Amino acid sequence: MTTVERLGGAFSTAVVSVVLVIGVGLVLALALPAITFVLVAVIAAVVFAYSLLAGAVGAYDLTKPLGWLCLVIDCTWSLANTIFGAIIGGLVYLIFGNPSTTASKGQNWVSYSPRSSTGFGNSVLQTLGPVNLGGAGQHERMHLLQARIFGPLYLPLFAVSYIVTALVQILFTLILGLALKAAHVRTSACLRPPSASAVSGFFGWIYYATPFEVWAYASGNP
Ligand SMILES: [Zn+2]
Repeated sequence: MTTVERLGGAFSTAVVSVVLVIGVGLVLALALPAITFVLVAVIAAVVFAYSLLAGAVGAYDLTKPLGWLCLVIDCTWSLANTIFGAIIGGLVYLIFGNPSTTASKGQNWVSYSPRSSTGFGNSVLQTLGPVNLGGAGQHERMHLLQARIFGPLYLPLFAVSYIVTALVQILFTLILGLALKAAHVRTSACLRPPSASAVSGFFGWIYYATPFEVWAYASGNP
């Protein structure tokens, strides 16, 4: 193969690649408005359903500036958390309880109260975006504030925190913990959370040591 042939081959390969990339770009540019439209429609539908529920339980007191502020934040900066809470919380919490006017009215969140005095929902306090299960506690209100402060970064930061604490727990247990337990230096091979933690044991430390939980626990219990 001569140098001219080599150059010719390289050039034609490059031309084909560039044409393909431009083609992909054009398809994306044409499809994007449609994708964007569908996405906005789905988000609007979820927010509409959430707002209907929030309105029914009087969550946002729109006679007060704070009510307006929370509603505006939840539908803009913290929208990702609102969507997450509305879909996941709205579906899962419905298994354990019902939206409660008493626990939600003027509280700037939709709170579900456990349906019966026994069962899972009764002992669990949880908050996903502006959707809560189990009612108010300083800890849960702090998660609500965290979501509103960190907005679209809140869930990704939470996910990264869990990955980091899980890795720390696994590595500590395997590299040091098991050996220290065998040497009777420690009573447990894994890192353990304080007794105040809602979750105990191996997974309890992974949960408790995430910065958002440390912050929420430090602000008061439950
Ligand atoms: Zn928490």
